[in-house]
Amino acid sequence: MNQVLPKVTTKLQFSVAHLGPFAELNQYKFAPPGLSFEIEGKVFLNPLLNLTGSEISLNKLPAKGGMPFYHKHKLNEEVYIFIKGKGQIQIDDQTVSVSEGSVVRISPGGVRCWRNNSDEPLYYIVIQAPANQYTSGDTINDGIALEHAVRWPS
Ligand code: ZN
Repeated sequence: MNQVLPKVTTKLQFSVAHLGPFAELNQYKFAPPGLSFEIEGKVFLNPLLNLTGSEISLNKLPAKGGMPFYHKHKLNEEVYIFIKGKGQIQIDDQTVSVSEGSVVRISPGGVRCWRNNSDEPLYYIVIQAPANQYTSGDTINDGIALEHAVRWPS
């Protein structure tokens, strides 16, 4: 496997990776554990940025491409955010058409697969996090607005 890795900068309170244009995401490849092939155009952010509460991947599926297998999860729910292009996602034998702006949440046990049935690339982001962790349902109040004035370098 000739894996391309983006340059990552890690500081005390943040990490930055520059992955390049979405149109060139196919430079990144992912080998699913236990399977004998690679998926082109999928890059996981967790190992790059040391995420501690979720997994996020950036994805490009070529025209007429599709995931060649079904999968489900043990503990994690997933949110698929479609950014550009058109396709279909199948969950438990139900097929949903998706396009720019479609957002799909799937419970851990949902058996899923998706495809690009169009003539243009399909771009999407997948966020994966443990299900049922937000017991208060109130993430907005987790933010703390600070009073000092905003400054930018000139
Ligand atoms: Zn998954």
